[in-house]
Amino acid sequence: MSATMTTELPRGSVTDELGFPSDPDNLYLQTVNTMLEAAEAINLKHRTRIILAQPKNEIMVHFPVLMDDGHHKLFKGYRIQHNNALGPYKGGFRYHEDVHLDDVKSLAFLMTMKCALVRIPFGGGKGGVKVNPRELSPGELQRVTRRYCSAIMDQIGPDVDIPAPDVGTNAQIMAWFADTYMMSSKHQHHDALRVVTGKPVEFGGSAGREKATGQGVADVLAEMLPGIGIPLEGMKVSLLGFGNVNGWGGRILQDMGAKIIAVGDHTGFLRNDNGIDCHKLFDHNMKTGGIKGYAEADVISEEDFYRTKVDVFIPGALEQMIKAKQADWLDCKVMAEAANAPCDPSGDRRCQERGIEVIPAILANAGGVTVSYFEWVQNKNAVTWSAEQVDRELNRHMVVAAQRTLNTRARLNCSLRTAAFATALEHIGSVYKVRGIFP
Ligand code: NAD
Repeated sequence: MSATMTTELPRGSVTDELGFPSDPDNLYLQTVNTMLEAAEAINLKHRTRIILAQPKNEIMVHFPVLMDDGHHKLFKGYRIQHNNALGPYKGGFRYHEDVHLDDVKSLAFLMTMKCALVRIPFGGGKGGVKVNPRELSPGELQRVTRRYCSAIMDQIGPDVDIPAPDVGTNAQIMAWFADTYMMSSKHQHHDALRVVTGKPVEFGGSAGREKATGQGVADVLAEMLPGIGIPLEGMKVSLLGFGNVNGWGGRILQDMGAKIIAVGDHTGFLRNDNGIDCHKLFDHNMKTGGIKGYAEADVISEEDFYRTKVDVFIPGALEQMIKAKQADWLDCKVMAEAANAPCDPSGDRRCQERGIEVIPAILANAGGVTVSYFEWVQNKNAVTWSAEQVDRELNRHMVVAAQRTLNTRARLNCSLRTAAFATALEHIGSVYKVRGIFP
């Protein structure tokens, strides 16, 4: 079949061709369908569609770890390497009891799109271990991390696949991971510390990495909201999740003049129409592990949280939390996806039907991987950037990515999500065009 004929295949044929299940609630299928919709809009070659519809490598490992009580427990880990046409696979790994293969595949896919959209020379990857890190002692956490690293060590590397923190993992875990990698006889040189990003600053980490994703969300909003008719000064915001991403994002937006009037996390929901001071809430969260018990706001129900009238709603908790019910409750003009895939397919459809402007995750939360890239560049060149340089470069990347997305939307007359995917796909498609498909 000629290339011209293959690009004319109707939508859906790729999922049929690859034998995907037709489960409408499957996160991976949701991601593939989003890609296919954007691929259709730009007439992307069939070969690029099928390459991207499945990851290059799906690595699954099982490893035993000695627990504090003397018994050994077997853990399951994943590393998905989705695509490396633009550069080494890049993406975090998470520790969570609900880690599943299809979710990790979906997150790896989103990383491919994200890196292509912000034009950093990386592909997409993602990993995870099925474990609740809160149930582990520090010693157990360290042993799980070292065994997970050694289980996937031969498939990753500073120029092959570079993990980073995600939900349930942090800078300390990245330090143990890098140390384990560097202890192996093949990698006993200092440059090997580029194998992960998100490291502590004293061990090769970058200034500004911790706040990077929240800062990126704020940079994108500052660039896009005036065009949507929402001034930053005084705009009302609600935050779902108050961890790394929204804890930083909330404080940064507040400092830029926004009023955060509702916040929710795994411990409950709060509201104060005069504004919740995110700096004070952050301190409370650090001390207690959640927003529950914060005195300067009223406790509200989940439904009242979603029904709170705001200009911008920022989901920054876990995936798939906003289903049709929550989407029906929402009373916002804009949703900025700080979390990856925060809506399930039904929630996504309802947001579209209700005319909510959704700034997609591959744009809104790309600040984290962008500063991870800066960390990798600094390590490779043995230099240290100032916090100001990191902020400046991050802002430049986020603003250009936002403008690219807006330009594509104007050209294709589509949603911001389709526009962001189409922008990323055009870049990947152009790289495949010049590289060709081996052999
Ligand atoms: P985190 O673990 O620091 O915070 C997660 C937050 O979600 C916490 O406030 C937690 O209370 C809340 N939460 C968990 N379960 C909840 C529930 N049932 N109801 C309400 N809230 C709940 O994680 P993070 O690093 O802030 O990541 C959040 C999201 O952003 C994830 O989807 C992650 O993949 C994505 N993301 C993170 C980064 C990063 O740099 N950290 C980068 C890009 C994307």
